[in-house]
Amino acid sequence: MKRFDSQFQAKLDTLKAEGRYRVFMDLERQAGHFPKAKRHVNGELKDVTIWCSNDYLGMGQHPKVLAAMHEAIDKCGAGAGGTRNISGTNHYHVELEAELADLHGKEAGLLFNSGYMSNWTTLSTLANAFPNCVVLSDAGNHASMIEGIRHSRAEKYVFKHNDMHDLEGHLKRISGQQPVIIAFESVYSMEGDFGKIADICDLAEKYGALTYLDEVHGVGLYGPRGAGLAEREGVMHRVDVIEGTLAKAFGVVGGYITGSAALCDYVRSFASGFIFSSALPPAVAAGARAAIQHLKVSQFERARLRERVARVKAGLDAIGIPYMPNESHIIPVKVGDATKCKWISDYLLDHHGIYIQPINYPTVARGTERLRITPNPQHSDSDIAALVQSLDGLWKQCALHRAVA
Ligand code: PLP
Repeated sequence: MKRFDSQFQAKLDTLKAEGRYRVFMDLERQAGHFPKAKRHVNGELKDVTIWCSNDYLGMGQHPKVLAAMHEAIDKCGAGAGGTRNISGTNHYHVELEAELADLHGKEAGLLFNSGYMSNWTTLSTLANAFPNCVVLSDAGNHASMIEGIRHSRAEKYVFKHNDMHDLEGHLKRISGQQPVIIAFESVYSMEGDFGKIADICDLAEKYGALTYLDEVHGVGLYGPRGAGLAEREGVMHRVDVIEGTLAKAFGVVGGYITGSAALCDYVRSFASGFIFSSALPPAVAAGARAAIQHLKVSQFERARLRERVARVKAGLDAIGIPYMPNESHIIPVKVGDATKCKWISDYLLDHHGIYIQPINYPTVARGTERLRITPNPQHSDSDIAALVQSLDGLWKQCALHRAVA
């Protein structure tokens, strides 16, 4: 075996030399104190404030979610005990799928073990369902969609990000000769910009294509019932498949699709990544349902998040730290250099107890390395002031570019 290790090591050394070797933070989240956590360093515990969590609304520690999970564990135990087909379906899964279908106004919902698996499995299965299928995929799409499409072996064209002219060019060329799936996202997580859902639906209707929308960074956060950006824009009913995660704004883990009863039944019956994997623990399904039900009626978390995001942006504006403009809850601060980005992140952590993970290639293109800041409703005014002050000092120290007011 040892002779293989030298090859692994050589590749790892390249990552380190490029400043993009990933180091895990050894965190202990503290229920009730989100976004505060303890960090394990050489046997010691240090306090950190997390500024890069995708538990966007802090629902992972919401009392209703925790109570639902405790209750389900006490009732059903820990694991599901099997795949969905072989004893793993628990009543909590059935209720959650109905809840998700209702959330998105669709006939059915289907659970997966992660958002990654839901994209990978559904796209690879759907693109295989029709002979000669072509997939048109936005250039900004997540790795899980890209891998799923690749696995289907269907013909694929990548259209320029959010470019309706380019998308229509592909649709015109194919022009009714082949079945087409258009795969895209509502909130692109590294830039924080929005997909053009209504425009894509217009084109899909004009050319008879099926629409597949990833709402992973939209669910819980947008729309009056937290169903996502398509709900906020009033176009949810026009999208054929809405995919989402339970691991971000809903605070637990798991993924899902919603769509017509026939489509979900088809995926349920033919998708390897669904059939051959054990079901989510019942307590996870119970916690997810509690989060969804809460966010269907409560506007508090969404409103507070918007206010916190605006406050962080105002703080950054005041000291000229440039961030990529967008209308979402994500604030990407471009550094443009992998080593510098990691150095800033390490310094913030070691000297200020502020944790923002550096985002490097291949998550983003080389030269666009960034700090991706995600405020939470629970960040206090003093957390925000500490963040802005620390970044100000670092920008001076590293002589980084500032925006001109
Ligand atoms: N889709 C997008 C756009 C994502 O950003 C992610 C993960 O960050 C996923 C899907 C995968 O979701 P999950 O984390 O639930 O596997």
